[in-house]
Amino acid sequence: PYISSYTMGFHHGKHYAAYVAKANDLLKASPLAGRPIEEIIRETAGKDDQAALFNAVAQAWNHAFFWKCLRPGPGAKPTGKLAGLIAEQFGNFETFQEKFLEAGKSLFGSGWVWLGLDTGKLKIVTTSNAGTPLTNGQKPLLVIDVWEHSYYLDHQNRRPDYLKAIMEHLVNWEFVASNL
Ligand code: FE
Repeated sequence: PYISSYTMGFHHGKHYAAYVAKANDLLKASPLAGRPIEEIIRETAGKDDQAALFNAVAQAWNHAFFWKCLRPGPGAKPTGKLAGLIAEQFGNFETFQEKFLEAGKSLFGSGWVWLGLDTGKLKIVTTSNAGTPLTNGQKPLLVIDVWEHSYYLDHQNRRPDYLKAIMEHLVNWEFVASNL
């Protein structure tokens, strides 16, 4: 009831598949072919002549990471060390949720909302388009896709409802904690 199979059919089956196909196609003619995807992302970031390759590989990576952040409901909460860090930095889990949802709602245009680790501290950050925290030294822990293709079929313009549905029901906190 939170993300329909119709949405996932397009999101995973068309949008994500297209990024992967495009990345593989562009890499055929690139000296970066065969390198780990994180290195390709860092090597191409911010370079005008590599923008098409960066967009394709970063979107492929961001989506692959996003799928791992999801799991079927019922909703859960972080535990252990991650729960401790969240309580330490945000006061409590509910405040963290509010701040994360607000960041996702406020991002103008297409992009991603992340929980990342930056020199031992949790940070909520947003990136536009294909942007990823991998290029600014942060370790991604959790991401939610806020491109319209991820929610429009189910929620139309109601991005906040989509973000809330994921945060309350679908986050794979075991995966998030494993990224620490
Ligand atoms: Fe997407």
